[in-house]
Parts: sequence; C-alpha cells; structure tokens
Amino acid sequence: MTEHRKVLIAGSGPAGLTAAVYTARAQLEPVVIEGEPSSTSDQPGGQLMLTTDVENYPGFPDGILGPELMAAMRAQAARFGADIRTAKVTRLDLSGPPFGVFVGDGAVPDYEAEALIVATGARSLMLGVPGEERLLAHGVSTCATCDGFFFRGQDIAVVGGGDSALEEALFLTRFARSVTIIHRRDQLRASKIMQNRAFANPTITFRWNSRVTEVLGDTQVQGLALVDTVTGEASELAVTGLFVAIGHEPNTAIVQGQLELDERGYIKTFGGSATSVEGVFACGDVQDHYYRQAVTAAGSGCMAAIDAERYLEARGS
Ligand code: NAP
Repeated sequence: MTEHRKVLIAGSGPAGLTAAVYTARAQLEPVVIEGEPSSTSDQPGGQLMLTTDVENYPGFPDGILGPELMAAMRAQAARFGADIRTAKVTRLDLSGPPFGVFVGDGAVPDYEAEALIVATGARSLMLGVPGEERLLAHGVSTCATCDGFFFRGQDIAVVGGGDSALEEALFLTRFARSVTIIHRRDQLRASKIMQNRAFANPTITFRWNSRVTEVLGDTQVQGLALVDTVTGEASELAVTGLFVAIGHEPNTAIVQGQLELDERGYIKTFGGSATSVEGVFACGDVQDHYYRQAVTAAGSGCMAAIDAERYLEARGS
C-alpha cells in the first residue's frame, strides 16, 4: 500500500529534523524517514551522533553532546507532529510529482510525496587498506564517541589532519595512554584553535608525512604498517586502536542519475534548496561540501522547509 504525503523528508540529521520542525509547524504533516542503524558509524541522527562536545552550536554556552542535541531536535520535531519512521530509503522515483519513495524492495512505492526533501547527509571516508574493514569494530573505528571508552590505557592512532581528526584525538586523550596522529603531510588542515589544543596536549604526538599501508592483527588491531610519504621508508607503529577521520562522502546513491550532482558528487542546489527536479529540495551535508556544520545544515533545513511550503502553496496542494 502506498501512503500519500504532502512532504516526505529523507534523513534525520540537523538538516532533516529542522525541515521537520518547520514543515510540521506549517501543518504539512511531514513524514521523516530517519534511517536505520546498520553499524556504529551509521545511525539515524547523522554525524552528530558520532560527535562528542559540540561547542559551536548557538544557544549552548557550555556546549552539548552531539547525541543529546540530536535527541532534542528529534523530540522537538515530534512535538509538532512530525511522523518519524525508523527505516531507510532504498530507492526514489523522481519522475513525479508525486515522487515515489521506497523503503524496501517492493515494486510499488511505500510513499508518494508531493514535495520531497533530501537530507541524507554524508558519511565517513575509509582508508581502503588491507585489514581496515576486517578489523572494523575490532580496534578500527570511525567514532571516538562510540568507542573511545574501550581503549582505556591503550596506545592508539588517529589518521587525518582536519578538524575531525583533531577532535577525535583530543577526545580520545580522556581514555588512551597515548594518541598518535598520523598525517600524510607536514601541515594540518584543521582550524588554528584545534591545532593549538592538539599541540598543547601532552598525550598527543604526531607522525608527519606518513600513510597507513596496512592495519595489522588477526582478530584485534595490533599495529599499523606505515610508509613515509617523503622518503618511502616503511615502519610499524604498535597501537591497539585506529580511528579513521579523513573526511566524508555525500549519501547520494538514491538520487544518482535523477538529480544533478556537482563535480564532487554533492547535490546541486539553485537559489536556496531547489534541485534540478522541481518539487525536490536538498539540504545539509548532502548538498554542502564547504561549510558542513550542524548550524549551517540546520539553517539549510529551514530553507528547504520554507521552499517546499511555498512550492506546495503555489501548486495549490
Ligand atoms: P577534512 O577537513 O576534509 O580533512 C580530511 C583530512 O584527512 C585532511 O587532513 C586530509 O589530508 C586527510 N585525508 C584525506 N584522505 C586521506 C587518505 N586517503 N589518507 C590519509 N589522509 C587522508 O575533513 P574533516 O576533518 O572531516 O572536516 C570536514 C569539515 O568539517 C571541515 O570544514 C571542518 O572544519 C569541519 N569540522 C569542524 C569541527 C568543529 O568545528 N568542531 C569538527 C569536525 C569537522 P590533506 O590535508 O593532506 O588533504
């Protein structure tokens, strides 16, 4: 049976849930397909579920934990009547309106929506080296918040030179005996304030100009094989944990071939949240590789909700 909706929102990060708050308050009775947990690094709520302290979301002078912020946004959307369903969008038919939304492998869409808001976010990139996937959740992690506690008193490594890597490393110093940041260059990409914090932390050391070539260990991480990117010299680092923090990729599989994407694979938006298909709107990290902040995602979720509302009004829906 196909359920008909005025607005369907795919995704439940800051963008999707802000769009839900706004469309619910506009009495458009949105349904939010929030996603389904499939691993520690893939959960409804988006990337803030994998974050510790959020210190730059306005309104929280003492900071707030990422999962707490997402729980509050979810409760706020639900309070105004957003219908939040724990399922994953598997396929879209954007030949409408109405737009077909599939959450299983059926032949007919599970939902039809007059307006669709895509807020599916982005996910962690992986190194793609031998041992990494096999030892995922056995010492390899993309989420310090989820897994940091398990590495109490241990020597661990973080790969990457951006804000994510430093944030993960700083958080991990609460548990680990030592944290080695492995970066492929000799300069960090992260913001100065994060660099200063990392340099000042005695538990953190840096392995510059280094690449991980293999994650070592049979059933648990026992070390890393490294290569010096300047000299080519190989070495090993004895660690029992590896946190991969090298950036993100947009979750656009469901719109491939149906929405215009930019050269990096993010959804192209035009004058706000409009996409190349009228009636389909995009917000948050799935369409933003530049700002990628919770507050900018939330702001763009608000824009998508207002754009969808005006679109429906103009169509007389
Ligand atoms: P990012 O800024 O793109 O940094 C990715 C890092 O990983 C870079 O240092 C990059 O090296 C390295 N890298 C990429 N691919 C690699 C590979 N295959 N092997 C080894 N290293 C690799 O990503 P991010 O740190 O996730 O940050 C994304 C955005 O979110 C940024 O705008 C950031 O400011 C923001 N952010 C902000 C906060 C905060 O304010 N609290 C926290 C997290 C993220 P190169 O430098 O050599 O390219």
